[in-house]
This record gives sequence, C-alpha cells and structure tokens, in this order.
Amino acid sequence: MPTNCIRIAGLNDGEHRQAFEIKDKFFKAYEDSEVKAGKFIVNTLVVLRGLDRKLTINIEGIITNLLCDYCTKRLEWAISTTLNFVIKESKNETKSTDEMIYVFPNQHQLDINQLIFEMINLSVPNKRTHNKSEQKNGKCDKKMLQLMQEYAIKTNNETDPRWEALNKLK
Ligand SMILES: [Zn+2]
Repeated sequence: MPTNCIRIAGLNDGEHRQAFEIKDKFFKAYEDSEVKAGKFIVNTLVVLRGLDRKLTINIEGIITNLLCDYCTKRLEWAISTTLNFVIKESKNETKSTDEMIYVFPNQHQLDINQLIFEMINLSVPNKRTHNKSEQKNGKCDKKMLQLMQEYAIKTNNETDPRWEALNKLK
C-alpha cells in the first residue's frame, strides 16, 4: 500500500493543499476494516503562520461494500467528513490525540494513512438502509423484500426486529 504523506515543514507561511485518491486496495492493509471498497478523495490543507501549523483533512466519497439492513442488497453510502488538527513538535515520541498531532522537530512529512482509515471507518453508519438520504441512487430491492416477507410468514413466530420493521413499511 502506498503511504499518503503530506508535507508539513520546509514550507512558506500560507496555505498548502494536497489531494489523494483512495480506492479499494487501500483497505487491504487493514484486516478489521469494515470498509473494504469505495472511492474517496482526501483533501488536506496545511496552514502555516510562523510557528503555528494547522492541518485540515476532508474526505468525500462513497463506501460501496455495505449491505442494506432491510433488503440485504449492496448500498452506495456517500460520506463527507472533515477534521481539524494542530501540529505540535515534540522531541519525544508523543501519542497524537483527536485534536493534536505530535511530530519530531526535524520531521518534514506526515503519513496520514491511519487518519484516513479512521475517518472513513468512523463514517460507517450504524443503520444502513436504502431509505436514508446519505445513500445514492437506490431504493430497497422490492423483490428481495417480498421474498423475505414470504419467508418470514412461513417461519413466522421468530420476532426478528427486522421483520417488524419490514411490516411497518407496508
Ligand atoms: Zn435496501
């Protein structure tokens, strides 16, 4: 997997932008990633003002491997997420936080792969259905819903909450 690095030093005061494209192969390095497929554009902005360094990461894209809770068909889930960080120097290895990224005084590049991974996976919704506004071009698969309902009627009595939800849709 190529690392996605941004320049954080040796830059003039002002704004510095970079962009990266993330595709399926990015997630192969993360076995426990819930997101396995999709297409994303990562835009980074480093703002330098004297000793102050700020980093903004914006990710827009579509997750394509999630399945609908209702009809079990694939969804295309659009995400848009932005985080802001302050970059601070530290001579010792210091764990970065949600708001602060620590780098060594002589560090010129910052590998943002882990941040990209986390931001995309944090955008995974708890409930995924075709009826939410975040997803693109889709409605639940009617045939599949019908099949599931027929199956539910046959096996009856099992009170899976999903069947109840289906019945409410009628
Ligand atoms: Zn669906």
